[in-house]
Amino acid sequence: MHHFSYKDGQLHAEDLPISAIADEVGTPFYCYSTATIERHYRVFKESFPQTKTLVAYSIKSNSNLSVIRTLANCGAGADIVSQGELERALAAGVPADKIVFSGVGKTASEMASALDAGIYQFNVESEPELQLLNEVAVSANRTAPITLRVNPDVDAKTHAKITTGKSENKFGVPWNQARRIYRDADEMPGIRVVGVDVHIGSQITDLTPFKDAFGRAVEMARLLRGDGHAIERLDLGGGLGIPYRQSNETVPPTPSEYGAMVEDLTKGLDLELIFEPGRMIVGNAGCLISRVLYVKNGSDRNFLILDAAMNDLIRPALYDAHHDIVPIKEPAANATNLPFDVVGPVCETGDTFAKDRYLPDIKPGDLVGFMSAGAYGAVQSSEYNSRPLVPEVLVKGSNMAVVRRRPTLKEMLSREPMADWL
Ligand SMILES: *Cc1c(COP(=O)(O)O)cnc(C)c1O
Repeated sequence: MHHFSYKDGQLHAEDLPISAIADEVGTPFYCYSTATIERHYRVFKESFPQTKTLVAYSIKSNSNLSVIRTLANCGAGADIVSQGELERALAAGVPADKIVFSGVGKTASEMASALDAGIYQFNVESEPELQLLNEVAVSANRTAPITLRVNPDVDAKTHAKITTGKSENKFGVPWNQARRIYRDADEMPGIRVVGVDVHIGSQITDLTPFKDAFGRAVEMARLLRGDGHAIERLDLGGGLGIPYRQSNETVPPTPSEYGAMVEDLTKGLDLELIFEPGRMIVGNAGCLISRVLYVKNGSDRNFLILDAAMNDLIRPALYDAHHDIVPIKEPAANATNLPFDVVGPVCETGDTFAKDRYLPDIKPGDLVGFMSAGAYGAVQSSEYNSRPLVPEVLVKGSNMAVVRRRPTLKEMLSREPMADWL
């Protein structure tokens, strides 16, 4: 569910016409709905009525400071993967004791900063990382609370580029080595074992792989308790999928179905559950708005050439992802739809958002919206082709704020000092 809908013939974000925002900030831009972000957080949080939970929003899905603060104000924690994200979480007001640190390549200085901030836990992904974290903690005179991310060798049945829980993926420690590594961790003076972590991938639309992986994590927690470890937390990662098509062919499980499955698996274990949802919270809370530059009638197909490009929204090029594309001006009920290839201006054939997409008669100058672009959209944007990063706008009711502004070309060029011999 989201808060983008037609009113009086115009697509609105909550109570604001999107065309009015476009007039103010120019195109392309990302537009986020506060009500949708808050609703998704609450729906997720309320899916675990029986259990103590920490919902640590995965900042990498949308790391805008105002988005993070909106969630922090609802009580969310943060799942971070870098020092930059640590700084963002803290700057946005997430308490350090609600921050968990994931990722396969944490550096010593990132570990030191996170220890210094007093984060809730490190999700350790390898033995060498564990050893380094121990050294960093000992020299800072601190103890690092850790889980080991165990690789459950479960196929999440999602796109190959976002599946992470198979034994061939780079993530986590192998299942059959986990107990030994936990034993070693117990001997390390800078380490305090607190739990077990799994995360099997993203945009997962079936409960089965979750159930398999979480069952294995519970089994591991039991074994580790048997080995004498104080396992108090189970971090079950993120990955719950969202509907990307209004005419939906695969309906992802609802948060309450997911919650019921998890509570059933963990009943009576007295474990705090940690979740790291990203896409599920912000995916449908954002869209990318773009203006049609040209309608080009090619020899076998018609192209809609937009002012947004793959550098602004890379998901179609990177993951063959589908985004619904809607006209901002509501089409007439009897409008005939024609097939278009929807493309951007970048000099790559990969700069194609959609092929043979049926759209009503659209003219140069019209606005279109890419729906469900709130997650892994703006965060993956780049300045390829020297195109400025697009602004991000947060809407709340009939208010809007530009929460990241478009840099000027002068600012972009000024970041590049000329080599002094030139
Ligand atoms: C990316 C990621 C998430 C968030 O995944 P979503 O599919 O956006 O929910 C959570 N945890 C880890 C470790 C991740 O890498």
